[in-house]
Amino acid sequence: MALTPMMKQYFDVKDKCKDAIVFFRLGDFYEMFFEDAKLVSKELELTLTGRDCGLEERAPMCGVPFHSAESYIGRLVTKGYKVAICEQVEDPAVAKGIVKRDVVKILTPGTYTESGFLEERKNNFLMGISILQDNCAVSFCDVSTGEFYCSDFKYNKTVILDEIAKFNPKEIVLPKSVIKDLVFDINDRFEVSVSYLDDMYFNIEDIRIKEQFRNLNDIQINKVLLTAINGLLNYIIETQKVKMSHIDMIESYNINDYLVIDGSSRRNLEITESLRDKNKKGSLLWVLDKTSTAMGGRRLRNWVDQPLVDKEKIVLRQDAIEELVKHISKEEDLKDALKEVYDIERLVGKISSKSINAKELISLKNSIEKIPTIKQVLTNFKSNLLLKVLNELDDLKDIYEILDKSISDNPAISVKEGNIIKDGFDERIDDFRNSKHCGKQWIANLESTEKEETGIRSLKVGYNKVFGYYIEITKANLSLVPEGRYIRKQTLSNAERFITPELKEMEEKILGAEDKLMALEYEIFVDIRDMVEAHVDRMKISSKLISELDCLCSLARVARENGYIKPNINTKGILKIEDGRHPVVEKMLDVNEFVANDTNLDTKDNQLLLITGPNMAGKSTYMRQVALITLMAQIGSFVPAKVADISICDKIFTRIGASDDLAGGKSTFMVEMWEVSNILRNATSKSLILLDEVGRGTSTYDGLSIAWSVIEYICKSSNIKCKTLFATHYHELTKLEGIVDGVRNYSIAVKKVDNSIIFLRKIIEGGADESYGIEVAKLAGIPEIVIDRAREILCKLECDNKEKDKDVILEISDKGYKEEKEKVEEIPCKEVAIDKIGKKEDAIAQQLGFLQTAENNEFIEEIKNIDLLNMTIIECVNKLNELIIKAKKL
Ligand code: ATP
Repeated sequence: MALTPMMKQYFDVKDKCKDAIVFFRLGDFYEMFFEDAKLVSKELELTLTGRDCGLEERAPMCGVPFHSAESYIGRLVTKGYKVAICEQVEDPAVAKGIVKRDVVKILTPGTYTESGFLEERKNNFLMGISILQDNCAVSFCDVSTGEFYCSDFKYNKTVILDEIAKFNPKEIVLPKSVIKDLVFDINDRFEVSVSYLDDMYFNIEDIRIKEQFRNLNDIQINKVLLTAINGLLNYIIETQKVKMSHIDMIESYNINDYLVIDGSSRRNLEITESLRDKNKKGSLLWVLDKTSTAMGGRRLRNWVDQPLVDKEKIVLRQDAIEELVKHISKEEDLKDALKEVYDIERLVGKISSKSINAKELISLKNSIEKIPTIKQVLTNFKSNLLLKVLNELDDLKDIYEILDKSISDNPAISVKEGNIIKDGFDERIDDFRNSKHCGKQWIANLESTEKEETGIRSLKVGYNKVFGYYIEITKANLSLVPEGRYIRKQTLSNAERFITPELKEMEEKILGAEDKLMALEYEIFVDIRDMVEAHVDRMKISSKLISELDCLCSLARVARENGYIKPNINTKGILKIEDGRHPVVEKMLDVNEFVANDTNLDTKDNQLLLITGPNMAGKSTYMRQVALITLMAQIGSFVPAKVADISICDKIFTRIGASDDLAGGKSTFMVEMWEVSNILRNATSKSLILLDEVGRGTSTYDGLSIAWSVIEYICKSSNIKCKTLFATHYHELTKLEGIVDGVRNYSIAVKKVDNSIIFLRKIIEGGADESYGIEVAKLAGIPEIVIDRAREILCKLECDNKEKDKDVILEISDKGYKEEKEKVEEIPCKEVAIDKIGKKEDAIAQQLGFLQTAENNEFIEEIKNIDLLNMTIIECVNKLNELIIKAKKL
C-alpha cells in the first residue's frame, strides 16, 4: 500500500517543519494529521476523526474552519506551540494533478503578531543568545513594532539571566550547541519557549543584515554580536516569509548603561507586577503608568524595567517632567491630543507585514492628524527633551494627504470586498461605481415598468446568489405572463421565477462591474499601502518620540497628583530622604494614613542600617520604599518624599520574603542562601542591598551566625562596602553598632500597652527592645490558650539559663488544651459564637483603648452593645459600614 498523493504532499511539508504543528489547508478547513492531530485535539478539545491516507490504518485527523482559525492558532501559540500554515500556492483551476501547497508562515510565541494575542502595553520580545568562546551576545526583537536591540559582554550566566528577566521574552532562540547548563537555568526560572536552531542560523555572514538594517555604519558590530543578530534575523525571515521592512534599525546597548536588577529583586520589589497575583495592579508600574497611548504604555514599561545610571540622562528627563508639572493646562492639552493617537508602531508593523486593513490605515491617518496639535502645544517649552520632540517630530503631512485622498472615511474591514477607496480618487473606480449604480437603478425601476406592462400588481424583482436577478410571479397570475419575453428559471410552491434577456444583460453589467471594482479597489489599496510603507522609517521615528512624550506626561501627572518632588541626583554615594513614602502602599491606604519616614545612608558611617522591630511593624515596607524611591529617581521620575538626595546605584539587590522554589527542587533556605550568595559575589560599592531576615530559615544559632558574618562581609570587604538595609529579628546583631564600622541601629517604633501593641510605623534610631512576636500572634487570632502558654515558655526561656532550656520543653503539659477542647465541645454552637464575638470585641476594644479619649470610649461602647445574633445580614453590613465611617473620623 502506498500513501495517497495528498498525504505524500503532507509529509513533504511536515518534514520541513518538524517542530511545528502543520495546519494543512483543505477547502474551507485547516486539517491536522497524525501526531499533530492527536496533540491539537487534546489541547483544544477538538474531535479526533480519521482520513484514508492510502495505508491500512486511517490517518488520525482533526480540523478547524479556515475563517475562525485565528483563535485556535492563538490558543496553541499561547501554550508555547509553533503553528505552520500550509496553503494552496497555485490556482486549482490551472493546476495539473494535485494543487501545490507550501508553508506560507510559521507562527511562534515570539513572532506571532495577531492583535488578539498581543498585550497592548507590553512588548512581545523574541530573544537570541550566542556564545563564542569567552564572549556572549544577546539580541531582542519585537516583530510587532520592529524594535531590535543587542548587546555583548564577557560570558556570564548571571548577566544573561538578568537580561532575560529585564526583557521578559516570549521565546528564546539558541544554537543547538549552546551550553546545557544555561538552558537548564532558563527553563528552571522563566516561563519561556526555547527553540534550538541549527548553528548555521548563527553564522557570521552579514549579507542579510546589510539588506535589513539601515544604520549598520553607525554601530560597532563584532563577531559575537553578528552571530546573535543573525540568529534572530534568520529565524524571523524563516518564519515570517516576507521582508519585514520596519525591522530596519539596530539599537546596540551596553549592559552597564542601565541599573542592574536581577529577576528575584524585580519580583520582590514588585516593579511591573505584584507578587501576589502577578498583575500590574499593586506594582510600581501601576502607579506610574498614566500614559494615554499603547506605545507610551510600552515605552514606560521599558523605562521602569531599565532605570538609567547616567546622571545627565536622568536630569534631562527630570527637567522635562518639571516643566510639564508646572504647566498643568498644557500637559492636559497634550494628554487630550495623545488620547487620540493609535498604536502607530504596531500599525507600521502591520503595513510592512502586509496585514493592515483600510480601517487601520484610517486609524493611522487620524493619529497623524494629531501631530500638528502636539507640536503646537510644545512650542514654548524650554527643556531639552521636550524641545527635541518638538524639533524632531515629523508631522508626516504627505502620508496624511495620501491617506486622506484615497481611503474612505469608513471603509470595509475586508480589503478584498470593495468599499475602501474614496470617490474621486481614481476615475476607473468612479466609472465602475457609476455603471453599478445605474444598473441597480435600472433594476429598481424594472419592477414598476413590468407591473405596468403585465398588469400583475404582485410582481416582484429580486436577487439571490444562485440565480442572480429574477422576476417573481405568483401562481395565480401566471396566465398574465407575456409569452416569449419571460424565460422560466425556478419554480417555488406558490410562485414562478423568470428572467428576461435584458435583465440578464444588466445583471452581467452590474456583477461584472462589481467584480472589477473589488479587484481594482484592492489593487489601489495595495499601491497606497506600499506607498506608505516607503515611509516606515519616518513613522517609526515619530512614534518613538510620541511614546517618549507620553511617558514624560505620565510621570508629570503622577508627580502632581501624588505630591512627588524632584530628587537631587548625586554620584557621591549619599542617599538622604526626608519623609519618604512607599509609592504603592500609600496608594492602598487612605489619604494621610501612610506614615512617612526618613532615610540616611552613605558608604561610610551610615553604610548598613540594621532595622529591628516586631513583625508587621513595617520593616519590609520601609526597605522596599528606599529601593523604589532610588529606582524611581533613576528612571527620571519624581519621588514620594519631602526632600530627596539620591546617589546613583549600579545594581539593586534584594533578599526579601520567603520564595519557595519547590518546582525547582530547592528549599526556602536554599533559595535564600543562593540569593545571598549572588548578592555577595556581584555587589559593588555603588550597589544598594536590601536583606530581610537573612538566616531565619534555619536554626537560631546557625541563622544568627550567617547574618552576623554577612553583615561583617558587606561592611568590611573592599569589594562591597555599599549602602545596605538589613532587617532582622536577631536582636543580638544590634551589638555590631560601634564594633563594625558603618553599622547603625534603627527600629520601627511600636507602643506597648498592657499585653498588646500598636504599630506607629515610624523608624527611629536605636535597636528594638523586644520582638513582640507573641503580641502579633495574638492579634492574628491565635487561640488565647496557646498565647498564654507561649508567654509562659518565653518567660522561662528568658529567665532560665541555657542548660535548663531543655527542661522547660519537657515540662509541657496538655492539661490545659484538653480542658479547652472539652469546654468547646460542651458548649452549644450559639454560645461558642457569642463567646467568640465577645473576645473579638474585647480585642478591638483593647486595641482602641490605648487611645483613651472620650470619643474612643464611646465608640468602643457602641461596638460592645451590638447585638449581632439578633440582626439580619444586611443590618450587620450597614452597622459595619457605619462603624468604619466613624472609625475613620477618630
Ligand atoms: P514581618 O517582619 O512580619 O515581615 P514587617 O515589619 O516587614 O513584617 P511590613 O510587611 O513591612 O512589616 O508591613 C506590614 C503592614 O504594615 C503593611 O502591609 C502595610 O499595610 C503597613 N505599613 C507598613 N509601613 C507603613 C507605614 N509607613 N505607614 C502605614 N502603614 C504601613
